[in-house]
Amino acid sequence: MGLFKKKNYIRINPNRPTQTSNQPSVPDNMWAKCPSCKRTLYTKEIGAEKICPHCGYNFRISAWERLSLLIDEKSFEEWSTDCQTEDPLAFPGYLEKVEKTKEATGLHEAVLTGKATIDQHPIAIGIMDANFIMGSMGTVVGEKICRLFEQAIEEKLPVILFTASGGARMQEGIFSLMQMAKISAAVKRHSNAGLFYLTVLTDPTTGGVTASFAMLGDIILAEPQSLIGFAGRRVIEQTIKQELPENFQKAEFLLAHGFVDQIVPRTELKQKLVDFIQLHTMEGWSGK
Ligand SMILES: [Zn+2]
Repeated sequence: MGLFKKKNYIRINPNRPTQTSNQPSVPDNMWAKCPSCKRTLYTKEIGAEKICPHCGYNFRISAWERLSLLIDEKSFEEWSTDCQTEDPLAFPGYLEKVEKTKEATGLHEAVLTGKATIDQHPIAIGIMDANFIMGSMGTVVGEKICRLFEQAIEEKLPVILFTASGGARMQEGIFSLMQMAKISAAVKRHSNAGLFYLTVLTDPTTGGVTASFAMLGDIILAEPQSLIGFAGRRVIEQTIKQELPENFQKAEFLLAHGFVDQIVPRTELKQKLVDFIQLHTMEGWSGK
């Protein structure tokens, strides 16, 4: 009969503080899960560059983290901080979402732009951040990238652009799609001025960003195992009614099919950028 006796449960007070001072605590962000090989990693293992020691996946990092890994200390001058996100379609909750994301990320839109030096070489640099509404491209992102190219023409600087985006920003509809053409025109003017443009495709680079300025670099680099594509895998499979290869839309697949010039791990990226900038700005070349 003891089987049918009511068990004694402990009541948990939801208002109770979850931890008291003498309990052992596990700090936040101590563990990370690799999205590529799915292993759980001790965050110290992935290091400042945030690379999976098992499969070499380059974790997503913020624009500010990226900047600190690459440029000379205190050399960054941010541009276009006066651009304000507007709500052309009166999309419910859009501006509130932008405000919250600004606070959480310390960015004022999904791309950070400005001027810096890398190993003493002056560059114009743009870094997209997937933490800001999935790095989506709205009018401010478009405007900031255009101004980046225009200022680079003015100052005769090469442009280095890191892409990370879920594509166009749906809350801005057609205004978002227009940015593709607008930025592409600015890229062309920069090219006509004889200046160098290099893109680094990071995880994920998709949609309208892939279909415009991400793929317009004179040199296109990618980080290992990054997702790079236009439409999503499922959409394509349903449209063409065929199963796609396992590594479809991965950087390695794009390299094998000629869409990317080179895959460069984050640890080697800075030196690679310096080499390309030196080569293309032809410093010390006498012109003979
Ligand atoms: Zn991994």
